Amino acid sequence: MGRGTGGKRAHGRREKSSAVTELLIPEFACILAVSGKDRCDARAFLRRVSPKAVILSLTPYRVEFSDDPCSPEAMRGAFQMLKNEMERYLSSGREVGIDCEDLRDDQVNQLRKLVPRHFVSGARIDLTPAHMSSVVTRAPPPTDRKAEQGPFDAVGDVHGCMEELLVLLSQLGYGVTEWLDADGSRRFDISNLHGRRLLFLGDLADRGPDNVGPFALVMDACASGVALCVIGNHDGKALRWFDRIASGKDDNVSDAGGFDITRAQLLAETPAFRHRLHGFLDSLPSHYLLENGDLCVAHAGILENMQGRDSPTLTAFCMFGDTKKGDVDEHGLPVRGYWAQDYHGAALVLHGHTPVPEPLWGPQGNVCCIDTGCVFGGRLTALRWPELEFVSVPAGRAYARHPYISDSGPDTDVATPGLA
Ligand code: MN
Repeated sequence: MGRGTGGKRAHGRREKSSAVTELLIPEFACILAVSGKDRCDARAFLRRVSPKAVILSLTPYRVEFSDDPCSPEAMRGAFQMLKNEMERYLSSGREVGIDCEDLRDDQVNQLRKLVPRHFVSGARIDLTPAHMSSVVTRAPPPTDRKAEQGPFDAVGDVHGCMEELLVLLSQLGYGVTEWLDADGSRRFDISNLHGRRLLFLGDLADRGPDNVGPFALVMDACASGVALCVIGNHDGKALRWFDRIASGKDDNVSDAGGFDITRAQLLAETPAFRHRLHGFLDSLPSHYLLENGDLCVAHAGILENMQGRDSPTLTAFCMFGDTKKGDVDEHGLPVRGYWAQDYHGAALVLHGHTPVPEPLWGPQGNVCCIDTGCVFGGRLTALRWPELEFVSVPAGRAYARHPYISDSGPDTDVATPGLA
């Protein structure tokens, strides 16, 4: 997958001119500082921009590894030790800076690729004298919204169930007006008299009857500040489709999972609408950590050490959950591990992704799945925060068949995350 906010923002450098360099580096990023042809002092740079970081370099390991620190064996062994140490610190949650002295270019890149596995973004900086006097801003990742306060209404997978969404929003106390703009795009005004906000858990489209409506509504709700939305695997697929078209490649994205309906409906919209939607999907974060860290929303799930951080590996977990790579079940769907079993975090995690007949609390009571399979004939459910009250609307009908859910409705035996 590899999409999401992590990769791009890790390299969020804004270089105004060669004289003054402004560096924007997310908190927790692992910086790999390369001295470059100007022989800049990478260690001094790291100390300044990452005062809390453990700073590692190859040299001490070369000496430790062999009496002949310049031998090829010493170089290889030392690099292995450096990799291990970097991973050990990152996995324990420490910030790490790498002084890349004596490392080959391919070794620097090897290290950089390992970083995201630990839910941290890796930023390589090839130093110039301008960097040494740069103004550095360490901003929290876009997923860290601890300062945002509720009350919130979290909404599970919509999957194109626009009618049910409108009924749900009305029951939750939101005023919604639809109108057409000059381009002919569907637009929405959404208001809430009580200052409540919506949290969409992703998977706005696919399989349902009106896949444009939820996209259009949520885009406007986010733009006006009434809603926040995280990316789901189905939104990620639409984003991939847009990306392929924009880059001039074919638009070859699989029809599976109801994307065929969404694609046809999007193609009937205006280019201006598709352009705006592309930008919106591209801006969606993997998750949000809210309410001083008491509440976390992610489409498929999230572990404690990922919350408020950012990396492509983390984004994949948030979108798809704990998939066992390559394993598929008897229905040909990826096997889903039940990550909530091992989740002991302080934040209540609200997620969707796996349709369940009733909202499902995790074993520790700190996780709740609110995807009640509306598109499969279940219900569209919201959870109110901090009240922890459920509000749900029954589906008009079953718009699609899920392999786990029979025509007679969701089957309690087989729709439990991780057990299915
Ligand atoms: Mn879904």
